[in-house]
Amino acid sequence: MGRLKGKNKSKARNKKRSDARKKSESYKKKILAKILKWDEPVLSEKCIAVEKDEDIHNLIKDMGRVISFSKNGVGLAASQIGVTKRVIAAMLDKKNITIFINPEILIHNGDVIKSREMCLSFPNFECVIDRYDTITMRYEDIDRELHTKEFKGFNAIVLQHELGHLREGLCDVGKEWKRQNTLPPVEEIVEQEEYEPSVKVESNSSE
Ligand SMILES: [Zn+2]
Repeated sequence: MGRLKGKNKSKARNKKRSDARKKSESYKKKILAKILKWDEPVLSEKCIAVEKDEDIHNLIKDMGRVISFSKNGVGLAASQIGVTKRVIAAMLDKKNITIFINPEILIHNGDVIKSREMCLSFPNFECVIDRYDTITMRYEDIDRELHTKEFKGFNAIVLQHELGHLREGLCDVGKEWKRQNTLPPVEEIVEQEEYEPSVKVESNSSE
């Protein structure tokens, strides 16, 4: 295509920009639509360990994208996008997306704090959960190197939330939603594109 001049050129540029924006928005929507919600059966399934040589490259990529495209998502378990494997993505210190493979909590420590939490799978539903403000976790990183590390405050809370998805199927927010026996809001069933914060933390811990 040849180059355009003057008005036409800027018109074409604007159209190009708006096309690119639309494209990236629809791509975002497509990625965010992967998040399973409410009473989707997979959300209640326990997750199984990732095998030694299992290729989870695409899963990790998808999880990273979901977290970074979601408005306020700070944690995601693989089962939330339909893969019942023990993999977590967490936005540590609210900024770095970190992948944890086959994580398990070895020690719960510190004070028990009240944490106000939300979950990407239960949008607009929030509840207060008791959490330890310090945990020691064993996990593998994306290179499958084994680590044992202590996490405190915000990070400890996000990881405890996500571990719930792996360990028991439903996370604590999901359990509370189920316990209250409320129906998913109608607009959430129709419109899948509204995503709210996953984990909001209210803690009195001092890091
Ligand atoms: Zn959750």
